[in-house]
Amino acid sequence: MLCFGRDFRMDFLTLFIIYTVFVLGSFIMVMNCSGREQFLQSCVNNLSKITACVLPVKLRCTACRMFNKVLYTRNPFFLVLHIVLEVVVYGEYTGELYGYCLEMEFTVLSLSIPYVLLMVKMIFFVMCCVKDPGTVTKSSQGFPLYSYDGVIYQEGIKCATCNLIKPARSKHCRLCNRCIHRFDHHCVWVNNCIGAVNMRYFLLYMLTLCAMAGDLAMLAVAFLQQLVLKSNLMQGSYIGEDGEPHPVDISFTIQHLFLTFPRVVFMLGFLIVVFLLLAGYLCFHLYLVLVNETSNEWFKKRQWNVIQSKHLKHKHKSAKCKSNYHRGVLGNIKEIFKPLTDVEKKHV
Ligand SMILES: [Zn+2]
Ligand SMILES: [Zn+2]
Repeated sequence: MLCFGRDFRMDFLTLFIIYTVFVLGSFIMVMNCSGREQFLQSCVNNLSKITACVLPVKLRCTACRMFNKVLYTRNPFFLVLHIVLEVVVYGEYTGELYGYCLEMEFTVLSLSIPYVLLMVKMIFFVMCCVKDPGTVTKSSQGFPLYSYDGVIYQEGIKCATCNLIKPARSKHCRLCNRCIHRFDHHCVWVNNCIGAVNMRYFLLYMLTLCAMAGDLAMLAVAFLQQLVLKSNLMQGSYIGEDGEPHPVDISFTIQHLFLTFPRVVFMLGFLIVVFLLLAGYLCFHLYLVLVNETSNEWFKKRQWNVIQSKHLKHKHKSAKCKSNYHRGVLGNIKEIFKPLTDVEKKHV
């Protein structure tokens, strides 16, 4: 029977606090940077209020300028951060987990899948970064890709910056400084807009990224599970603070794994959070594909409905935004993978 010398509750607590701060930080960062400008704005405002009490004015202004530059200009900060996080996770996988899993007789095929997913994901990631999302040009401004719904999109409106007629479903991106056909959102992680042309690559990128995080997390769980089973850890005992032996329970096992393989457990926690966020975000985008809506339209419709319901509060009826580009489920999917802007190019 295994017997552990001491109860390492304090070590665990310190490590767990660092871990929680790290994982929560990652969670907040991913939430705030997934295309929701309102979140970013409130984040900046709250941070300014907090720093106003702590930092001197000059330092605060510099920090504010840097923060605004990172969040409100087109720059590769999050793109580089994305690659750094990936290098850290794959470094840990290759340097530690891969070797342990081989020792535990995991098949090379199952251990190679994360590398295959990484390569496929990189292809879609590069496509998202470099492909023109569907910039509105002089020649494409008048092309009737979609009809104006008269609610979100009004006919004959010119973009004040580009000085071009805004086609229906297009929007001007302040970060890229151009109007984009079937604008969805500006993604800081790929440092590009997501629009009519690169939406298909964005979906496939999200899908492979999700699969990558899920596969790595499953391998880490399988390794920790095998470790507990093969070492008969649950059948052992440990000496508690009272000096008495206690049988190993779940809480002790988690603490033990945390302290023995901290990097693997850190990586697992991070991957689970990333996977859940990505899966949720991907499901939201798949729903939008099925109903033929963009994130921009979804958000504007909600805003429109809230305003209308306030106006009609006393009239016992609610008005719903009638904007609708639905062409049937198959038609909607086809529109993503064979964008109308491609059809347009063939005609020009
Ligand atoms: Zn514009
Ligand atoms: Zn943009």
